[in-house]
Amino acid sequence: MPTNAKAVLVVGGAGFIGSHMVLNLRRAGYQPVVLDNLSKGHRDAVLDAELIVGDMADTALLKELFARYSFAAVMHFASFIEVGESVKFPAKYYQNNVAATVNLIETMVKSGIKHFIFSSTAAVYGEPQYKTITEAHPLAPINPYGRSKRMAEEIIRDFAVSDGLNYAILRYFNAAGADPEGRLRERHEPESHLIPIVLQAAAGQRPNVTIYGDHYPTADGTCIRDYVHVVDLCSAHLLALNALLKGKKQLVCNLGTGHGYSVIQVVNAAKRVTGRPIETVVGQPRPGDPAILVADASLAKQELHWLPRYPDLDPMIEHAWKAMQKPA
Ligand code: UDP
Repeated sequence: MPTNAKAVLVVGGAGFIGSHMVLNLRRAGYQPVVLDNLSKGHRDAVLDAELIVGDMADTALLKELFARYSFAAVMHFASFIEVGESVKFPAKYYQNNVAATVNLIETMVKSGIKHFIFSSTAAVYGEPQYKTITEAHPLAPINPYGRSKRMAEEIIRDFAVSDGLNYAILRYFNAAGADPEGRLRERHEPESHLIPIVLQAAAGQRPNVTIYGDHYPTADGTCIRDYVHVVDLCSAHLLALNALLKGKKQLVCNLGTGHGYSVIQVVNAAKRVTGRPIETVVGQPRPGDPAILVADASLAKQELHWLPRYPDLDPMIEHAWKAMQKPA
């Protein structure tokens, strides 16, 4: 690592998207420093990048870190992300995704750091009022997870006014895939995300996949989502970082491919990619799940010249499958 590399604090860098970001930052010549409390992340996912085990709610630790390094920017991947869990335990979501995020932003701006990249979500939109969702769609989240992210977005905007914070808010649709070289993979415990669950069934690690409802107003009755490769999410973050460093002040954009796939289409793609049988059973709809979420991602293309490298579902599943073959 060159000594003049710009340091970037990656909060949540031991998690799925954060750990991929660390790889991508290093490849782009930055010096990522990971802050992760390891409540969801994995120590081995940071590979040989620098890891500080701690929490973004810990003001003293943040102050010490901001004094020790001269960070060019902070990237925040450290949110809780499970819709179902957020419905059951809202306080957990508001405490971490909102209160601890305020602490992170306040401490960084007080330390003179002005560039912030925030992982937001399509869940801020709620039930789509029209087909492909643009950033102008009303923000009407239907679960505590989405509400916690909308609140964090509002707080970021307030700090832009009060402290001159420059920000990129990136609203991911459904993050999927894995490092194509198989060094990292998606691991949540317990796993709740569709593609890893489907691949666990393909690998014989679970007997079947429960489809959460098949009476949605879609062609096959199952929910439709816009899956976006984690490598492409990372490339959008790098473009956003470069834009902020070159003077851009604010950016809010969707990250998706613009193509939706139903739960059944995902299962069929996984059968095709893995060549394995995958049994499904139909269960109850999951509370808080909208029927269809598909991005209009033209703004990211316009503003950042973002061009997803793996827009199709099969490579996302292929890379996730390849990464699963490696020992944990
Ligand atoms: N899903 C499902 N069975 C599962 C997990 C997820 O049918 O075991 C559905 C879920 O209802 C949603 C889609 O798959 O429509 C994607 O869910 P995931 O949890 O992966 O992401 P989310 O959309 O919640 O961000």
